[in-house]
This record gives sequence, structure tokens and C-alpha cells, in this order.
Amino acid sequence: KPIAGVKGSFSERTFIAVKPDGVQRGLVAKIISRFEERGYKLVGLKAVVPSKELAEEHYADLKSKPFFGGLVDYMTNGKAPVVAMVWEGKDVIRQGRVMIGATNPLDAAPGTIRGQYTQVVGRNIVHGSDSFESAEKEIGLWFGKAGELIDWTSANEQWILSDN
Ligand code: UDP
Ligand code: MG
Repeated sequence: KPIAGVKGSFSERTFIAVKPDGVQRGLVAKIISRFEERGYKLVGLKAVVPSKELAEEHYADLKSKPFFGGLVDYMTNGKAPVVAMVWEGKDVIRQGRVMIGATNPLDAAPGTIRGQYTQVVGRNIVHGSDSFESAEKEIGLWFGKAGELIDWTSANEQWILSDN
């Protein structure tokens, strides 16, 4: 099975991470709950202090930004781990971004994760892949080893995914 599933299908996958500030603040369960309650399927989960190399590769598109060094330090300094996850389901990449809310919490709608729990862009507690290509890259980076993603069938599937 492709690492990010099949784009647009029920098997689409996204990379979601609770950043160290979300872990410090005890918001891991609340963030997981939103994805569980929406009916998405958890196919990968681990707590990890990423290496500098991993964080730099994860945020490679931001390398030239003035906040890049601080961002990488915040993700990697070990004051708390990152809780890295892969969630699977219909349109989960785009829906995950909507559930997380805008990058700047002051632009994030109330009820989104960032709009409910955060105030500043540098401590916005959660990450979600922004496209299928990003999901493929990020899942590969964080869950590259064989066996880290679990293919399983949810007994709830017929109640969540049937159209009639
Ligand atoms: N970030 C920051 N300052 C900024 C913009 C971004 O510290 O001015 C951090 C923030 O943690 C953000 C991350 O860099 O979540 C990645 O930025 P991106 O634009 O990809 O936002 P995201 O995809 O997380 O919404
Ligand atoms: Mg991004």
C-alpha cells in the first residue's frame, strides 16, 4: 500500500504531529480525540524527539525564513517530545488542515485546534500535512521504517463510511 494511501480515497493518509508545546500543555489527548471522533483511523503513533536533520528536512521549504533556526530548536530541543501520528480517511489531508486552523492562531477560526488553544504562530501546538505530496514526504520521514504503520480494519467503518 502506498505510504500516504490513495489520494482522494478512503485510504488517504496524512501526517499529524502534536508539537512539544502541545505535549507540555497536556493537549495530546484532546488533539487525538478530534481525529478519532471525526471517524478517522489511527495507523501510526509515536512520541519522539526528532533529530535536527529530521526537523530540517521536515521544514525544508522554510529554510530561508528568519524563524527557521528557532523553529528547528523548538521542535528538537527535547524539552518535550513530538507526538507523531498518521491518520487515514476520506479527504483527511484537507480536513485535517481545516480542523487544525490557520497557521497564525489569530486567523484561526474558533473551534479549530489552533483557534481554541493557541495565541501565537511560534507556539501553535500542532502540524498537519498541507498536500498529498507533503503527506508522502512527511510520513516517509517520520515513519520510514517497515512495520511502523498498521493496516487494520475498523469495525465502525460501515457506520462511518457508507453513503446509504
Ligand atoms: N512559523 C513560525 N513563524 C512564522 C511562520 C511559521 O514560527 O512566521 C512556524 C509555525 O510553527 C508553523 C511552522 O513554522 O506552524 C510551519 O509553517 P507553515 O507556514 O508551514 O505553517 P503550517 O503548515 O504549520 O500551518
Ligand atoms: Mg506547513
